[in-house]
Amino acid sequence: MVSESKSPYLRAVLESIPAYKPGREVVGPDGRSIKLSSNESPLGPLPSVREAVSRAAADLNRYPDPGAAELVTRLAAHLGVPEEHVALGAGSVGLLQQLLEAVGEPGAEVVYAWRSFEAYPLLAELSGVTSVRVPLKDETHDLESLLAAITDDTRMVLVCNPNNPTGTAVRERELVDFLDRVPDHVLVVLDEAYREYVRDPEVPDGVTLYGNRPNVAVLRTFSKAYGLAAVRLGFLVGHPSVTAAVRKTLVPFAVNHLAQAAGIASLDAEGELLERVETTVKERERVREGLVAAGWTVPPSEANFVWLRLDEDTLDFAAACAREGVSVRPFDGEGARVSLGTPEENDVFLGVATAYARRR
Ligand code: PMP
Repeated sequence: MVSESKSPYLRAVLESIPAYKPGREVVGPDGRSIKLSSNESPLGPLPSVREAVSRAAADLNRYPDPGAAELVTRLAAHLGVPEEHVALGAGSVGLLQQLLEAVGEPGAEVVYAWRSFEAYPLLAELSGVTSVRVPLKDETHDLESLLAAITDDTRMVLVCNPNNPTGTAVRERELVDFLDRVPDHVLVVLDEAYREYVRDPEVPDGVTLYGNRPNVAVLRTFSKAYGLAAVRLGFLVGHPSVTAAVRKTLVPFAVNHLAQAAGIASLDAEGELLERVETTVKERERVREGLVAAGWTVPPSEANFVWLRLDEDTLDFAAACAREGVSVRPFDGEGARVSLGTPEENDVFLGVATAYARRR
């Protein structure tokens, strides 16, 4: 007989952690469903990548190579860094968790801008690391205030560049100045999930900045520009003390065999993938211009999404989009992040946003 028993004892912190909310899919009146809520690539995998994954799928009974040697070698060559400077994770969100676990002693603090990637506070709490949030200034990182928020207890600073959800990016001069002033004991993580979409030449590639800085690491992902969100593959570039730490905090075999095959095939198909990114970048400028022409204020974005500050209208706007079958990512009371889709999808969104601006 099953007795009415009490729930098992769980960590109290779980009560305060909301479950991660993935981007929603909505269906419009005509059955249309346009998902612009998760910053994914709107396009399916390249045929060569699909084939590589299918081939790898024939061989599933053995554990994957835990060190993903071939992919690490390929990535290191691709980035022009030593192999010991590359570590993999199940998505860059997996690496974030690995990093937080690596620094998460009692009393440890992580400093990051807010609003930024919504997983930061959740993962910090889970690892027992206290979040110190520094408000954005003009929709972008306020590096001076981030610096001022560092204390003896700070173990990590996250700089999301470009920032999710605002799309804004910090430039080389200010970032280098910041890195030069962060104390050596604090790990600075440059979260560059959207790096491939950056076109402003003054926005630095973190991989060119970490070399002489043992406390700087760069996070990248195959989920966005490489169109592989489903396989869960991200990587970190950093000095051996950091890469060794995240290798230890990786769940064994979390970077699976299909992900490794997909990653290698994607590096082989870089040219084709980057052409797709170019299309998204063009769409970003077209969509932004359309929104501005309709009366919206849109910060220039270096990522594959745009940000609309809507304050108290945020949920109403998201509902107006949903009625037309377009899902966006609302942050209640703040604004909505809208990923760039195909040109046709973006046109539908522009239509909704233009009509909304007229009514507003
Ligand atoms: N960092 C940022 C800034 C992101 O926006 C995302 C995805 N939304 C991630 C990391 C995580 O991506 P993934 O785990 O798919 O690599």
